[in-house]
Amino acid sequence: MSIYENTLKRLEEIKDLIIEKGESENKVDEVFQILKIPQRIIKVNLPLRKDNGKLEIYEGYRVQHNNFLGPYKGGIRYLLQVDEDEIKTLALLMTLKCALVNLPLGGAKGGIKVDPKALSENELEKLSREYVRKIYDFIGPDKDIPAPDINTNSKIMDWMVDEYLKIKGEKKEVFKAAFTGKSLENDGIEGREEATGKGGEIILEALIKKLGLKKPLTVAIQGFGNVGYNVAKFLYKRGYKIIAITDSKAGIYSKNGLNPEMMIIWKKEKGSFDDYKISKSNSEYKIKNEEIFNLEVDVLIPAAIENVITGNNANNIKSKIILEMANNPLTEEAEKILDSRGILIVPDILANVGGVIVSYFEMLQNIEGKRWSKEKVFKELTNILENTFQEVWQISKKFNTNFRKASLFLAVKRIYKRYLELGSY
Ligand code: GLU
Repeated sequence: MSIYENTLKRLEEIKDLIIEKGESENKVDEVFQILKIPQRIIKVNLPLRKDNGKLEIYEGYRVQHNNFLGPYKGGIRYLLQVDEDEIKTLALLMTLKCALVNLPLGGAKGGIKVDPKALSENELEKLSREYVRKIYDFIGPDKDIPAPDINTNSKIMDWMVDEYLKIKGEKKEVFKAAFTGKSLENDGIEGREEATGKGGEIILEALIKKLGLKKPLTVAIQGFGNVGYNVAKFLYKRGYKIIAITDSKAGIYSKNGLNPEMMIIWKKEKGSFDDYKISKSNSEYKIKNEEIFNLEVDVLIPAAIENVITGNNANNIKSKIILEMANNPLTEEAEKILDSRGILIVPDILANVGGVIVSYFEMLQNIEGKRWSKEKVFKELTNILENTFQEVWQISKKFNTNFRKASLFLAVKRIYKRYLELGSY
């Protein structure tokens, strides 16, 4: 099953719930028909003159899934595994994320099939600018607003927005809202880089409070990019014990706990944990990547890419909670197994929605020409996420269903209501 089909299957499962709760079967059917297909798929070919003089052509995508609630919104990733199926899935998830937290935004996603580590900085800049030239007509503050995702960052957003403004011939700050996740010097917002991780912390804190779990709770984190590192940092500060971290090459375990600030120094310097020097005094040892899924921990956090927990390893998992900081880290089959084993899953559209919320604040800041402090950003983020968590919790109790279904229910219900108001087609 492709990951898109996998996600559609999950969506399909809540259709009956919406009908059961008194909505018109015909209209609900229509909304599902619409949500199952993206509104627009843009595929671009991006020629790049490499530093060695050779020309190479890279494949890029922007999928605009749905804009009933507002302009399309979503990140751009640079990854070799990028293809249409992946970007379609992530665009659909963006529609659902924005709807879940009631943002006036729709869903989109973009990507380039490339290993950015294999490019020089000059090549990376040229490729990023070429991507903007190819999708330019379809983006803008009132159309579609890209942002960072895996392997993209504020530097790349700065190049992109610069290219966008150059073509547009505009200097006004409001057009900077065409991209979010920009650097602070370029009208970005405080806390954007940390926002996805911060959101994970806020949701997990709300959950353990409801469950009455006492700290120190142990945590294992798969993936140590922007999201993995930041969630580790915030949880560590809150008194959680981070006992294992992996990156794409290797993993480190310590029953005494790891300090994410020390780990990130190593990671930044050496690029990976491949030849990490273990500390014997901290009882550290190396683990294989896959072993992260076998550990006895309270909270397991997949924070990298899709489909890492499958029917093959779901039975090995021994955590009480899975906090999905990555998008779509579990297959459908894995989820069924974990559900039947009573493992609580906090779905991606709730756990990692902090990033797009702060992106929205960045747009507001650009449009209003004001500056938000980090305190204000995190306070507003906390308000939205705590309220959303309460809603999801209540729906899951009321309908006796898991958090994923409760979150999907709330998101689709909002899109459905908007569809009725629009009276389109
Ligand atoms: N890439 C992030 C996500 O998957 C953020 C998207 C945004 O800020 O638009 O949610």
